[in-house]
Amino acid sequence: MINQAKTILKQTFGYDEFRPLQQDAIENVLNKRDTLVIMPTGGGKSLIYQIPSLIFNGITIVVSPLISLMKDQVEQLDAFGVPALFLNSTLTVEQYRMNVNRIRSGQAKLLYLAPETLMLEKTRQLLSKLKIDCFTIDEAHCISEWGHDFRPEYRQLAQVRKDFPDAVCLALTATATPRVQDDIQSMLEMKDSARFVASFDRKNLVLKVADKGYPLDQILDFLYTRNMQSGIIYCFSRRQVDELAYDLKNNGHSVLPYHAGLSDEDRMKNQEAFIRDDVRIIVATIAFGMGINKPDVRFVIHHDMPQNIESYYQQIGRAGRDGLSADCLLLYSYADRQKIEYFIGQKVGNEREVAEKHLESLIRFLEFDGCRRIPLMKYFGETYRKSQCGMCDNCLRDKGDEEDYTIPAQKFMSCIARTNQLYGAHHIADVLRGSSAKKILEKRHHKISTYGIGKEWPKNHWVQLSRLLIRKGFVEIDPKYGSLILTENAKPVLKGDIRVTGILDRTQTTHQEASKQKTAGFVESRFNEELFEELRIARKKLADELGIPPYAIFPDTTLMEMSYYFPQDEISLIGIYGVGEAKLKKYGNQFLNIIRKFTRTNDIKSRSRVIRQRVKKNASKKRHELIGKEYQSGKSIEHLAEQYGVKTATILSHLRKYLDEGNTIDPSGILKASGLSKRKRNMVLASIKKAGPEFLKPVYEDLNKEVDYNELRIIQLAYMAGMKKKSSIREGS
Ligand code: ADP
Ligand code: ZN
Repeated sequence: MINQAKTILKQTFGYDEFRPLQQDAIENVLNKRDTLVIMPTGGGKSLIYQIPSLIFNGITIVVSPLISLMKDQVEQLDAFGVPALFLNSTLTVEQYRMNVNRIRSGQAKLLYLAPETLMLEKTRQLLSKLKIDCFTIDEAHCISEWGHDFRPEYRQLAQVRKDFPDAVCLALTATATPRVQDDIQSMLEMKDSARFVASFDRKNLVLKVADKGYPLDQILDFLYTRNMQSGIIYCFSRRQVDELAYDLKNNGHSVLPYHAGLSDEDRMKNQEAFIRDDVRIIVATIAFGMGINKPDVRFVIHHDMPQNIESYYQQIGRAGRDGLSADCLLLYSYADRQKIEYFIGQKVGNEREVAEKHLESLIRFLEFDGCRRIPLMKYFGETYRKSQCGMCDNCLRDKGDEEDYTIPAQKFMSCIARTNQLYGAHHIADVLRGSSAKKILEKRHHKISTYGIGKEWPKNHWVQLSRLLIRKGFVEIDPKYGSLILTENAKPVLKGDIRVTGILDRTQTTHQEASKQKTAGFVESRFNEELFEELRIARKKLADELGIPPYAIFPDTTLMEMSYYFPQDEISLIGIYGVGEAKLKKYGNQFLNIIRKFTRTNDIKSRSRVIRQRVKKNASKKRHELIGKEYQSGKSIEHLAEQYGVKTATILSHLRKYLDEGNTIDPSGILKASGLSKRKRNMVLASIKKAGPEFLKPVYEDLNKEVDYNELRIIQLAYMAGMKKKSSIREGS
């Protein structure tokens, strides 16, 4: 059955490989074992029920609270040639009746239902006459009181599910702490064994936190190089949304607001405009996003601080669902923090305690000086195994940008001490600058020794320094009064025993363009932008004619591959990512015509031979040869893992096979996949040399079981590749 699933993956959806966990989960469902899947947004949860639905004889029910998404999903499935329908309160009586008739006559393999609709007597009757093979619950965290979005009507699903004893139950969600996962499984009476939890790490998201200085300018800077991209900007309040939307529009940006103060109709209209690429940017309160399935959101900006890590994660999760790199920028200010504290202060009891804890974790994340993925993953109960991700502001920041601020730090901190740790950064800065503000004279701070010793700096430098000192742990903010207090670590600085280094100005939102190189995949960084634009325009036109969103025709990734490989005929086109049989038939010719014309006019040679090879090779299953060759042509292991949608360990085992068959591979690229320090790597290497490269168990024991097998395999392969290279050089000379 799993082979059938693979065929559908390729023929219907146009994808070459399953993503991690998809195959296992699908296999489980096909074997009619209840299954819980936790996978971040964009991970590919939908295929886990969509593919089985095409294999089962009966129908698959999908319950989801996101009514606004259903139409979109059904449109997308329609483009793939998958027969799907939905029933919810947005349908007219006529449409409703028509859909019911279609369902009765077996014209749908998938039926999307809102929970309220499912509870209706008439729906239950309709369902009782159908053969239901799979009962899918999307956004399954809504079933648990411990989740962040508990919905009482979800509770009843557990009961309804019992009406269909022959149906396998599949629960899906993107956000569930272990506690919520347990809850879902026990409510639905599932066995533990059927739990699939993917990593929370969204590798393609670049995470940035900048100090909020002049937010409008900062955002304009950020947008300057992104005038073709779609993005969302979150604000704290409706007023802020309106203001920012107005300002951005005045600065020539394509933007619409979204918040609960607008009429339902305007909200729908603005959301639709965003989905259909009629407007590029949505400025919104947190009310926006639940019903958004747009895969090519290229950035999410937080103009104001989010409520907690969970909402932050959910909101940035709306970026880059297509797997291409996307930027997440958060503007952080102390004033925002105070605002949230104020709101929390108005809560009582347990609720207040929980909110305080959440805020604390968020602040820890924001003020963290190392790789941002470490505290983020940790929050979700996962350990981030590398020390650097290379995809967050802290990792991307050049160490060379750091400067020595020991002297100003000493001035600033002694001023805190002299004023008895009772004041905030602005007051301290005023004292240092020798201001004669009323408050200073009143408190007689013009009489203390640190008065006026910091005139060399403008005030905002001193305020920035206070943030640096907080980040580095020399100073803390008194949670009750907001005043700055010195920590234990401040003493050695004041005594001159340790130095303070760091980056003062963290308000920049545009640097680190270098990250693009790093985050972009192979095709993503090399496609022909001119053709891409032409294809995009054609896609938009076609989408408008059909009344569906552009991405339902093809996602950007598909257009990028088209603009890289320049396929000339249907055989090559089917080798392109995201092109299945239905889409080939429906849209193939229109896109081929544009590509052919473009290559002719510009005298460009097609790379379709490469794709055809890819199609053929895929069929003959000699994947390791393909991977070996691609690796040798310069693709990194990480890139290959992404391209084939498998774990790096799988790529390594293909390379091993490739090597074993007598080919050479470059050892240095393999070592890049290792998460070990150089010192550790050398230890492993020494041990492998001693014990011989064939077996790893002796090495594992030799290193006191401290290095896991995955890591050992990496070093082993690099070692073998190195040996091989040496011997072939010898042979050659
Ligand atoms: P989720 O529901 O987990 O947020 P989706 O099911 O919407 O994610 O999938 C995100 C995107 O990834 C979609 O465009 C989908 O078509 C694509 N996708 C899913 N599985 C694969 C795969 N195995 N190979 C390539 N693309 C995939
Ligand atoms: Zn990082």
